[in-house]
Amino acid sequence: MFFFGHIVNLDIICRLTTGADMNRTIQNELEDIRSRGLLRSTRLVSSRQAARVTCNDHDVLLLCSNNYLGLADHPALAAASIEAIEQYGTSSGASRLVSGTMELHERLEAAVATFKKCEAALVFNSGHAANTGIIPALVGRGDVVFSDRLNHASIVDGILLSGARLVRYPHNDHQSLALLMEKHAKGRSLIVSDGVFSMDGDIAPLAELVQLKRRHGALLMVDDAHGCGVLGRQGRGSAELQGLGNDVDIQMGTFGKALGSFGAYAAVTAELRELLINRARSFIFSTSLPPSVLAASLAAVELVQTSEGDGLREQLRANSTFFRNSLVDAGFKIPAGSTQIVPIVIGSAVTTMEFSDALLAEGLFAQGIRPPTVPVGTSRLRFTLMATHTLADLAGAVERICHVGRSLGVV
Ligand SMILES: *Cc1c(COP(=O)(O)O)cnc(C)c1O
Repeated sequence: MFFFGHIVNLDIICRLTTGADMNRTIQNELEDIRSRGLLRSTRLVSSRQAARVTCNDHDVLLLCSNNYLGLADHPALAAASIEAIEQYGTSSGASRLVSGTMELHERLEAAVATFKKCEAALVFNSGHAANTGIIPALVGRGDVVFSDRLNHASIVDGILLSGARLVRYPHNDHQSLALLMEKHAKGRSLIVSDGVFSMDGDIAPLAELVQLKRRHGALLMVDDAHGCGVLGRQGRGSAELQGLGNDVDIQMGTFGKALGSFGAYAAVTAELRELLINRARSFIFSTSLPPSVLAASLAAVELVQTSEGDGLREQLRANSTFFRNSLVDAGFKIPAGSTQIVPIVIGSAVTTMEFSDALLAEGLFAQGIRPPTVPVGTSRLRFTLMATHTLADLAGAVERICHVGRSLGVV
């Protein structure tokens, strides 16, 4: 009896103490994040995702959305989505390889392949799922991935998951990459880069990356989450902008940003598509996208290729150029670039959040970006432009940004 009770008590004591320790460590961890100025929380948007939104109950100008062309509340996408629900219901009910491949998946893939001028395309559930699925499908132990130092976190996650060796090269520095490839390329090599860098707004030197991949017989993958729909004459992305197409082996892009929907694609050869279907675990082991989402993506892919799409891209470029030049003229530290992503690099995480909070009080919603999203000491306010901003909106915003920037000693 005694022995028995002893064991029970020990067990209870063990559980109580580990429970208490666990609470303490979680508290400590949160306190540690807070004390470094890195605690994150969400801000509530209670309206549509338009150029102006209701944020924490205030009407504000939205300057941190990736809804670059304003398609997230476009009537054509909404109508397509509603029609798809009425025709096909609300869920695909299974993964693609079970019973979850519907007509709309195949229609969207055909439309993307045509849009990207590629042999084939495969749809993924999100950009994150695409990167963590594609990279381990292509490389594994004994292989090497050459990855730009500023690549998106989901690319890094995909590489870590693959078990391949990660060789990071200095940002957009193809000469350093050439030396690193001479030294480290073995097995199957993959070069992977953002097309447009999500936190810096500059563009990858794709022609040089294509040369290097040819020299070493490597594969080249470009993540065009911020280029698709926006860059190039018809919005095909960073490869179209630089006069390259099928030289990039895997053109990954997303539907959740400029295309106003949700999900992602890989534009590839028919052979690579078949490999991804057989090897990409995020494709194989996850319920596929529902009809409503696929129909909105399909409508968006069609829309960006029309004259309406051309007009939106033109407006976005004009807005971006005006906003970028105005902040540079005012003396802010803006990394060189030409896209709709315009960061003010501040350095301190705490000042960055003070800046963001002060702007919100002034009716401007711009998020502070801190480590680990960007390297330590490079915290920044990341502004993103939309085609649906008016020049008057933006001129007013620049004035208020200058005012707050001066009061915080940032400029
Ligand atoms: C947003 C983003 C992703 C992730 O895409 P989701 O569809 O939001 O999961 C991947 N890569 C880059 C460069 C991104 O900016």
